[in-house]
Amino acid sequence: TKFSDLKLDAKVLKAVTEAGYETPTPIQAGAIPPALEGRDVLGIAQTGTGKTASFTLPMITLLGRGRARARMPRSLVLCPTRELAAQVAENFDIYAKHTRLTKALLIGGVSFGEQDKLIDRGVDVLIATPGRLLDHFERGKLLLTGVQIMVVDEADRMLDMGFIPDIERIFQLTPFTRQTLFFSATMAPEIERITDTFLHSPERIEV
Ligand code: AMP
Repeated sequence: TKFSDLKLDAKVLKAVTEAGYETPTPIQAGAIPPALEGRDVLGIAQTGTGKTASFTLPMITLLGRGRARARMPRSLVLCPTRELAAQVAENFDIYAKHTRLTKALLIGGVSFGEQDKLIDRGVDVLIATPGRLLDHFERGKLLLTGVQIMVVDEADRMLDMGFIPDIERIFQLTPFTRQTLFFSATMAPEIERITDTFLHSPERIEV
């Protein structure tokens, strides 16, 4: 498979080429086609396999030309740690650089002010840790009913850190019709339960 065979948006393809990528990694070749068809994806992959691009590239393509609305993000990426969320945000900026899509990074340890301002203005993508996302929600600053695509990254670490109840709550706050791209390095029974409950006939890719 080549990136140009994957039906990614031309602007995304351009960014990928500029990043120097030549061929998709196995998780990318497996996850991107079903994601672009609108299907749920369950990706079982370690970090370092290129999984960030495997959800970011189709997400950018699917969000396309739609417009962000105030306080209603169209897409959500949940990460277990601030560092990982910041890395995903950096990747998003690289892959989305030829588009007009916008993002906000919602992580703890920094004031709410700047994050509030971005949410109020309207962003296409929220990249967040679960606790901080729910803090914004509880403060009445954010609606998740416009979420079309939800990504859960490193679910096994979410489990280790006790975030599974937060993840379930966030799933419940998003529309049933959302598309979910869910990634975990391992499939513990508790993770299996979550994916059985919230994913709709996912394409399972194990690398
Ligand atoms: P990740 O597993 O998403 O953290 O990605 C690991 C590293 O691989 C990152 O530094 C990416 O920039 C890089 N990468 C991702 N996809 C590709 C690709 N198809 N070809 C070359 N490098 C890639």
